[in-house]
This record gives sequence, C-alpha cells and structure tokens, in this order.
Amino acid sequence: MPLDRPNTPKLDSYWMPFTANRQFKAAPRLLVAAEGMHYTSADGHKVLDGTAGLWCCNAGHGRRRITEAVSRQLSTLDYAPSFNMGHPIAFDFAERLAAIAPGPEGAKLDRIFYTGSGSESVDTALKIAIAYQRAIGQGTRTRVIGRERGYHGVGFGGISVGGLVNNRRVFPQIPADHLRHTHDLARNAFAKGQPEHGAELADDLQRMVDLHGAETIAAVIVEPVAGSTGVLVPPKGYLERLREIATKHGILLIFDEVITGFGRLGAPFATDFLGVTPDIVTTAKGLTNGVIPMGAVFTSRAVHDALMTGPENAIELFHGYTYSGHPVACAAGLAALDIYEGDGLLTRAAELQAKWDDAIHSLRSAKHVIDIRTIGLIAGIELGSREGAAGTRAYDVFTDCLAKGLLIRVTGDIIALSPPLIVAESQIDEIVATLGDALARAA
Ligand code: PMP
Repeated sequence: MPLDRPNTPKLDSYWMPFTANRQFKAAPRLLVAAEGMHYTSADGHKVLDGTAGLWCCNAGHGRRRITEAVSRQLSTLDYAPSFNMGHPIAFDFAERLAAIAPGPEGAKLDRIFYTGSGSESVDTALKIAIAYQRAIGQGTRTRVIGRERGYHGVGFGGISVGGLVNNRRVFPQIPADHLRHTHDLARNAFAKGQPEHGAELADDLQRMVDLHGAETIAAVIVEPVAGSTGVLVPPKGYLERLREIATKHGILLIFDEVITGFGRLGAPFATDFLGVTPDIVTTAKGLTNGVIPMGAVFTSRAVHDALMTGPENAIELFHGYTYSGHPVACAAGLAALDIYEGDGLLTRAAELQAKWDDAIHSLRSAKHVIDIRTIGLIAGIELGSREGAAGTRAYDVFTDCLAKGLLIRVTGDIIALSPPLIVAESQIDEIVATLGDALARAA
C-alpha cells in the first residue's frame, strides 16, 4: 500500500507537464497507488486504468517480477557510464529485444540504440537517418518529412516532424515538411481496424520528391497508428504505398512505435501486425512497462552497418545519453519482456479484438459520438464539439468517468482508450458501461 507520505502535498513548486496547472491545482486529482488493472486515488477510491497509464503499463501495475528485478539491480549495479564502458545487462537486454525485433525473420531491425524516452528515441532516429545517408554518400539528404497530426514527442527533432499545432506554434524548428494526415470522417467513419479509403494520400510523399528532389530527403516518419492526436488508423494500403515510394527514392521510412510497440495491436510491433517493414523503429513506454523511463531505437542491419565504417578508433555515431542503457531500466525491461512473453501479452490484443471491437462500437449510438475507431487494444471515440468550446465536452466526460472510477484519456474532443493488455473481458464491459453512462449525462 501507499502512504509513507501525506496524500495532500503542497502544490506550488511542481510545474506539471501537459497540464493546465492553475485549473489542476484548484482541484487536484492525485493517484497514490496502483495494482493490476487499478489505481488508488488520494481519497481512497479504486480507479480502473483504461489507458495503461499513458499507453505504457502494458502488463498492468505492481508486477512483482519487475519490482524485484529493479530492486536486485539497484543493489548490484545502480549506474554505470554509458560510453566507453559497458555493463552486461544492457547487452543482454538488447539480445532479447533483437529476438522479437520488428520485421520479418531474416530481416529484423535488430540493431538497438538505447535512449531515455520516446522523444529521445525520435530525435535519435532522425539523426541516425541523416547520418546514414551521409555515410552512404548521400550527404545532401538532410530534409525530414513528418505528417499532419503526427506526434513524435517534444524534442526539437520531434516537434519539427510533428503535426500538432500546440507543439509547433511557439517554437522555432528545424525545417521539416509534412504529408497530409489520413483521417477522413466522411469516408471512413466507424471503421473497425484499418479503414478502406485513403491509400492514395501516401502519394504526398511523391509530391515532396517532385517538389524538393529526392536527393534532399533523408527520411519520412509516421506513427503506424497515431495515438496522442486521437487514434488515427492508417487506411488499407497506405503504409505499403508509403514504403514503396520511400524505397524507390532512397528515403528511409521510420515508424514511431512508442505507443504501438510491445503488443498494443496484437503483435509485438505494428510493423509485424500491419505487415510493412520500415528501416527504423522508435520505441519507449511499454519497453519497461512504463516503470522506469527508457526508449530504444531499432534499426535495420543495413542502416547500422553503413555507420560501422571508417577508422576503428573513430566514434561511429556521435550521439547518446547519460542514461542510455541504464542498468536499472534494462532490468525493468528484461523483467517486463519475461512477463509479456510468459503471459502471452504480445498477442493478447489479437485474442481480444472481436470482443473489444464489439464492446466499443456498441457506443456508436451514444449521445455526442460522431466516430469510433478501433485497432488492437486501442480505441478512439470522437465527440461532436461544443460550439466555440472545443475539447470541453470530452474533458467533462473524463472528469465524470474518473468520479465513477474509470481513467480515460482525452485529446481535444476525442476519447482514447488503451487498457493494459491484461484487461479482463468483464473489465472491457465495465469501461464501456461507465463511459456510456458518462456520455449520456454529458451536456
Ligand atoms: N512518439 C509517440 C508516437 C508518442 O506517442 C510519444 C508519447 N506519447 C512520444 C513519441 C514521446 O514519448 P515521451 O513522452 O516518452 O518523450
């Protein structure tokens, strides 16, 4: 249980991320403990975790195997320098990750660079892509291409290729270009899995090539399924076409799998689930079940090997972080992987797919709902916005659900669900019932 410190802390000093601080501090919502599928709030209520924390606690909370592995590692080797020195567990973890790495057998992206977060993974991937192009004699390829409504974290690289207006309007950025997003309510509303229409939007990449010249473009980055901007699922054929155009023009394809990695869709990675193999994959979140911050970038051998040239005493990629391969994070990751594999969690979303789709789509006729999108164990439920007050309706539903013991996530007027992969079928029903009631009550 929690509580070796008071449940009512002073609120002034902590500047909270991604939060309306003044609104929050006027009515704080605090979580003080977690176990399995539930959080405990400061006032002692159990809250069903409909979001796996922030899309990260795929094996649920309080997993003893992870706690014990972290504790053992902490008392054995708490930290070691991340360059020019190594420690075994970082290599062990990479070997284990390589075995389940994204991509088909024989062509897996099984060369792995550690970071400390999703944002760092994205910035690392973009740097690797540009360094790779340079290493193969394509040094003019420095342009990176993202997508409208893409979310790739908050580093300068990530906001450059990201397509979220709040991330873009305030800061100067590295120049980047954007493909249009594929979200198409008119043609694809209420799709289960990949929607039918929109593969042709991948031709935006060809337009970029025609506009700028292939010789200026290093890489294109997309989330295979966009999460943070409202669960946007790629239309059938879209990623295939993007892959084809990228390959044709020597452009690296990067999948940002920070959310989709580690079983979220029903396969270890979206790469496998959707059957399209990029050159680089970024991960974080589920990598350690969210319990210790860590990210990892998976690259193809071609990308890796191209950079392992030059004099042997030269640093191949002048990049890394103090916490790259942190031993305690690696211990958490290894234990998380033991659980994912031992409990069949990397494919559990596929087993639950029919149940999940039916349950979530039963909200189709609920008040305010204008679209529902499901794929793997993710759902996006889009509400009609209040005139002149976008986002307030979903926020009201969020606070109502919380009061009734369910944690959901909202982004604008879109509700996102992504429960831990251990969710019971009865808990899926509970999520839908609580949410349905809250929608019915929403003004
Ligand atoms: N990429 C994607 C696709 C994400 O969803 C996120 C986080 N939601 C990030 C990158 C950034 O990860 P982090 O917050 O760990 O920096």
